[in-house]
Amino acid sequence: MTVATEAVHTAAGLASGLLVDGEWLTTESTFGVVDPATGEMLAQVADASVEQGIAALDSINNAAAGWAGVPSRDRGEILRRAFDALKAQREDFARLISAEMGKPLAEARAEVDYGAEFLRWYSEEAVRLEGDYRVSPDGGSRLLISRRPIGPCLLITPWNFPLAMATRKIGAALAAGCTAIVKPAGQTPLTTIKFAQLLLDAGLPKGVLNVVTTTGSGRLSGALLADGRIRKISFTGSTGVGRLLISQCGQNIVRPSMELGGNAPFIVDADADVARAVDGAMVAKMRNMGEACTAANRFLVHSAVIDEFSTLFAERMGTLTVGHGLDSDTQVGPVIDDAARNTLSALVEDAVERGAEIRTGGHAIDGPGTFFEPTVLTGVPVESRMFGEEIFGPIAGVTAFDDLDEAVRLANSTEYGLAAYLYSNNVERSLRTAERLDFGMVGLNRAIVSNAAAPFGGIKQSGLGREGGREGINDYLDLQYVAIDA
Ligand code: NAP
Ligand code: MG
Repeated sequence: MTVATEAVHTAAGLASGLLVDGEWLTTESTFGVVDPATGEMLAQVADASVEQGIAALDSINNAAAGWAGVPSRDRGEILRRAFDALKAQREDFARLISAEMGKPLAEARAEVDYGAEFLRWYSEEAVRLEGDYRVSPDGGSRLLISRRPIGPCLLITPWNFPLAMATRKIGAALAAGCTAIVKPAGQTPLTTIKFAQLLLDAGLPKGVLNVVTTTGSGRLSGALLADGRIRKISFTGSTGVGRLLISQCGQNIVRPSMELGGNAPFIVDADADVARAVDGAMVAKMRNMGEACTAANRFLVHSAVIDEFSTLFAERMGTLTVGHGLDSDTQVGPVIDDAARNTLSALVEDAVERGAEIRTGGHAIDGPGTFFEPTVLTGVPVESRMFGEEIFGPIAGVTAFDDLDEAVRLANSTEYGLAAYLYSNNVERSLRTAERLDFGMVGLNRAIVSNAAAPFGGIKQSGLGREGGREGINDYLDLQYVAIDA
């Protein structure tokens, strides 16, 4: 047995993939989940039909009123028990994430910790759904304002953080009193399946959360959104699919929350601590092999420090150990699939043709597995594809600037607006610069912005709504106001 199949087998409670009303159902056909580091088949999961998706919707719709009526303290307690259980099963979850997604075990453990925080956070937020009582300005009436669950939700998650993207949505939905169907990415359904079982074991009533795995994601979500009973969709993934889902929401006026792509600038100003900026660059670029929507995508470095920065950065990137995520010395795992790897090769070729120089890496690594060398390019022209597109892999492109105004203009010259990073030792200047960056999140001398207590999300074409923080639960709540003749 390989380490990856072993990780899947020890993840006890791994069920079919189709969870409806507390029962794991089997389907006529199934589809395979592959280890991206070896190409090995790890498991088969249910390939649900549209009809089975509608049955899952019947179930969450039937459970909706009951769950909304459960006292918020009790909803919170279930989330808290799930938090404790997830921490207790940290290693099993981490190994499973690493096996199906490819990330190094240390990063998978960090994902379990990060993902668990959303359960703890929302267990605490569940009891703080605020209302208001106001006196009408004309004195003639009273206004009583309350919040209530929006209703059945559809939650669609990506493969890059299979646990954390699920808990971030599920935690908020359940705390708000909503029921939900979660549809995990086809490449990484196993973690979600195990997590759903954990929630059942923590006391979540049947039908409150159903899971649907399918090869027909578009057909399924199209049918669910056309049905009329889904009141909200929360999606994390590509901007193209997000755009399609938003248009489908128009039909029944479904509220969308969207976490879409990014094209994060990483600005290093002339007065930055270069060693610290390189440390930050390693994290902002290489966390999750660069497969994060917040990943640094464009390194904009002041010409006064660009040589020092690029040399140090390329040295560090060139010494990273690439390998199977479950090998103890691995620092960089495979990218998710062949298509992703081919895109990376094309992005490098394009930049080199336009005059960029490869400082380290630059190539796909022969199989088995879909590995790509950690890569640094300098002199990346702003016309190159990797400057305008989301790279989603272990490639860093460095571009010079001469004054900060120019850097801000370049940084903002994208339709995306998720995360940005700025390294500078001048507090006043960096705060003022942060205000001029058109991004939902800015890291100042800091390479990780993700935090369960903060409102995560983007502006422009990077998305709609926020997840986490005090703000995250609002997307799952409707306001009602009662006018009182008093
Ligand atoms: P994707 O196609 O947007 O997939 C994300 C999720 O949406 C998956 O669960 C997927 O299911 C589902 N999906 C796909 N097509 C759908 C449709 N027509 N209707 C409803 N759901 C649908 O993303 P991807 O193909 O995995 O990755 C492509 C690119 O998206 C990446 O290179 C990256 O640029 C971006 N991305 C961004 C994030 C992020 O965190 N913002 C995460 C992942 C990817 P299936 O797996 O069954 O297709
Ligand atoms: Mg896709």
